[in-house]
Amino acid sequence: MSERIHLLDLSPDRLEALLGELGEPAYRGRQILSWAFKRHVRDFESMTDLPAELRARLGTRLRVRAATELARTRSPGGTTKLLLGWGDGATTESVMIPAPGAEARRTVCLSTQVGCDVGCRFCASGIGGSSRDLSVGEVLEQAVVVAETLAGRGERLSHVVFMGMGEPLANYDVTVEAVRRLNTDWGLGIAQRRITVSTVGLPKQIDRLAGEGLQITLALSLHAPNDALRAELIPWAEGISLEVLLPACRRYLRETGREVTLEYCLLAGVNDGEAHAAELAAIALDLRAHVNLLMYNPVAGLPYERPSRNRAIGFLHRLRAVGARAHLRESRGLAADAACGQLRRRVGK
Ligand code: SF4
Repeated sequence: MSERIHLLDLSPDRLEALLGELGEPAYRGRQILSWAFKRHVRDFESMTDLPAELRARLGTRLRVRAATELARTRSPGGTTKLLLGWGDGATTESVMIPAPGAEARRTVCLSTQVGCDVGCRFCASGIGGSSRDLSVGEVLEQAVVVAETLAGRGERLSHVVFMGMGEPLANYDVTVEAVRRLNTDWGLGIAQRRITVSTVGLPKQIDRLAGEGLQITLALSLHAPNDALRAELIPWAEGISLEVLLPACRRYLRETGREVTLEYCLLAGVNDGEAHAAELAAIALDLRAHVNLLMYNPVAGLPYERPSRNRAIGFLHRLRAVGARAHLRESRGLAADAACGQLRRRVGK
């Protein structure tokens, strides 16, 4: 593994301090970050408005990119999944999700950990647990790689969701720092309101996040509308009852004024019945939350199935019939190892 530090692991202050040590003015920091974030260069040599000697010196201490692209799949709908390899042999997935039709929205789904300890029974990323947290630089690099891919097609990255491999709030400091840096004008300049952090539901961290002064959306991965089924599907949820979790979401709404969304992955015959819809609608109405229903993407070796489209639409109508706001998110990735962690498993990393 290279001992050079990842450029994107350095805060702007630390980068400026390093430049000061090298006898360079602070403004070079912005110049360098602009090359990395906005012009997507991969090394210091390409930063052509820096003195050649400085480029060489920086190149011995820092690296602009750390990841190697190991695999890439693209579904007919345009969803592109990238498998990135890091210097220590760890691999993670990042996904670019285009909006349907002519809409300009381009979303990147970022991973925050290598694997995931939460171990949701229906998820490929949870198989094998988590081997380590990603660093801020590794999280940011995923967004830069996707922004670079989009720039090559004349498109721009517009939204970021922290919904890839890992539990973002279990890597709390990195997640919050990455959010702040994605948002700055010398970063990718993504508006906070276009950034969503998902969590399986860690009440203490939700309270902490509410106090960060951010305007991001919190997405609660609920997946089951009662404690018994949640504990069955999400092992981490066993010790965290909805009685504790939902008030934390209410506090988040009160503190930030930002709505909480409820993510609910429909699993055939498991959580997609009439009674489940009624329980979910009650939670959504209480939290004034929007429900995102997702059609499950089956994972080889796991016993869960995708419900029929009719059944999913029936579930959606039950929510709406009692006044809950809900959408059924069309899966645009069945052909692209779309479920979280699937490409990584297929490639055998
Ligand atoms: S669904 Fe998310 S939280 Fe659950 S195991 Fe997979 S990556 Fe982890």
